[in-house]
Formats: sequence, C-alpha cells, structure tokens
Amino acid sequence: MNLEVRIERSSTPKPRPAESDLGFGRNFTDHMLLLDYAEGRGWHDARIVPYGPLALDPAAAVLHYGQAMFEGAKAIRGDDGVVRLFRLERHCARLASGAPRLCMPAPEPAVLRDAITELVRVEESWVPRARNTALYIRPTLVATEAFLGVRPATQYLLYVILSPVGSYYGGDTLKPVRIWVETEQTRAAHGGLGSVKAGANYAASLQAAVRAKAAGFDQVLWLDGAQHETLEEVGTMNLFVVLGDELVTPVLGDTVLAGVTRDSIITLARARGLTVTERPVSLAEIGDAQRSGLLKEVFGSGTAAVVSPVSELVTRDRRMVVGDGVGPVAQSFYDELTGIQRGTRPDVHGWLTAI
Ligand SMILES: *Cc1c(COP(=O)(O)O)cnc(C)c1O
Repeated sequence: MNLEVRIERSSTPKPRPAESDLGFGRNFTDHMLLLDYAEGRGWHDARIVPYGPLALDPAAAVLHYGQAMFEGAKAIRGDDGVVRLFRLERHCARLASGAPRLCMPAPEPAVLRDAITELVRVEESWVPRARNTALYIRPTLVATEAFLGVRPATQYLLYVILSPVGSYYGGDTLKPVRIWVETEQTRAAHGGLGSVKAGANYAASLQAAVRAKAAGFDQVLWLDGAQHETLEEVGTMNLFVVLGDELVTPVLGDTVLAGVTRDSIITLARARGLTVTERPVSLAEIGDAQRSGLLKEVFGSGTAAVVSPVSELVTRDRRMVVGDGVGPVAQSFYDELTGIQRGTRPDVHGWLTAI
C-alpha cells in the first residue's frame, strides 16, 4: 500500500500556548491528518489540512454503535533540539491489530507511521522544548457510514491530531496518587474489548472514576470482571508492583491493554538484571505482601504520564499504604525512559526516530 499525502497549509496559524501552562490535551496544532476508507476502494485521499471540525452525517455509525478506537503516542524534542518519535510504529501496529475486534479496517502500520511522521514534520515548531513536555499524537479511527442497521460500517475515517502537552503532574517531580480498588464496576470482561484501545472501554470506566474522585481518590484500580480478585490495570495505565526484589506486572490477556510503556519498562528492567514476572496478581497476595512488608512499590505506566507512583490502595475494608511516596524503582524508570526520550541517555533499543 502506497499513499501520497497531500498537504494544504493553514493560512491562519494559531497563537502558541505558553510552555509553562500546557496541561494535557487542551491545545491543538494548526493541522491534522485525514485518511478515508471505503469498502472496495481501501484507504485513500491521505491529506494534511488545517485543524478544524469534522463534518459527520448524524447517522454516522460511530455516533450510534461506537465503532471507534484511538492511539496515543509522543514526539519529544531532545535536549539537542532534535524532534524524535517514540516507538510510533508500535502504536500504529497496535491500532492495526486491535481494529479487527471492532470489525474496522486499519492502514498498514508503516504507511500510517510515515503519514504521521509527515504531519509531525509540518508541525515541528509546535513540539515544545521545556523539560517534561512533548507533542502528544492522537490517531483516531471512526465509522463514518450513514446507516442505522447494526453491522460493521463500510466507510471509515482515520484522523490524527496533535497536542503540545506539559508534565502530567504539573511540575518536575512525580506525584504519588491515591487509588480506590473498584470491586463493583468492571472496566473489561473476558471476551470483551479490554485489550483494544476502544473508546467504549473509557466510557465504561468513567462512572467509577468519578465516584472515586468524589471520595477523595485520584483513580481506580481495576480488578478482573468475574471475581473482582485479580489486579488488571490502574486508571488507564498498566500496573506494576514491586514485591521484595521482584518486579511483577499482570500478565496480558484480553482484558489488559498491551501498553508500549509497559513493554519498555519490562525491557529496561531486564537489561538492568532485575527479575520481571508477568503473572496474575491477586488482591489477597497484595494484602499479604503489604502486611509482611514485601510490598515495596505500586505504579502505573502509560504514554501520557510515563510512570505514576501509587501511595495508597484503599478497598471497602482496608487501607494499604504503599512505601513512602515516590519509590526508587518508579523514579528510576521515569528518569531512564524520559532520559532516552530526550536523548540524554543512549537509545540502545532503537526506540527513537528523528523526524
Ligand atoms: C493506552 C492504555 C494504556 C497504556 O498504553 P501505552 O501504550 O503505554 O500508552 C494502558 N491501559 C489502557 C487501558 C490504555 O488504554
């Protein structure tokens, strides 16, 4: 598959937001990338055009039956001023491997990677320079066919928007989060959409997150949908637990999203000679480990925050304090990954591509 990307430049560039106050996902760049798909014709009309509202038929399938998924990747400006993409092809491959679960087509990963790289080149000057900032890349795939029958749509739009983002924590230091262990609602069930970056998973997670926030927590810990006993993810991040000298993360399955950050941390940990185990972790095991002092750290991993340390896990009948603030393991992976991304540490695994 070969796609020529047409470029139509904006004649009204936007004012740039201050780098000290970017937040997350609030500002968008001047251009976006669009690709159309039609059954029988395939992907066509790849174009970079001025950022703006999409025209969708009110009957578009995505608005009714939720055929939608997305990705989240980053371009980072190194300390040397060079803009580099972090594992972009892996994100494009995840979109392609997840789309069939929603009966959606996706472009070949290398084709999408090249088109996104072209977009980031056009928007190069939007990539912020300050520490802990990045250009967040949001590819989104939606069903656009105007038809109310329940079946997979025959027309799709893949669009990519870019957002300069600041530190997830609003500062230079990691901020530990307090977590509510959710035992009633479920993010993902076996046989469902949990391993796909489907918008529907996020819709399913909102109410528990809102309730947790109202009760003074930052996020929820998701357990398995059948027994509410096995740990799966924390908020919209993968989960890591430090038990003694062992780094443990829930094994991937159809209820856990295969995070690129998760994979990166596992790779870095093994390169350090740490014991990393991917296996089921039960709430009972965590409870015992906390009592015995074996539970050293809990943290989440994801593109947006990179690493998010957990200071407390609270269930209906128990409050488990984890370590004392930001643990050394979480901090060291944050420093190593962001160092690689900014070009201050060697990229021995070949994760970066200069644009
Ligand atoms: C995106 C996402 C993650 C993290 O994936 P990364 O590739 O590391 O950004 C983890 N869990 C869920 C549910 C996600 O949607």
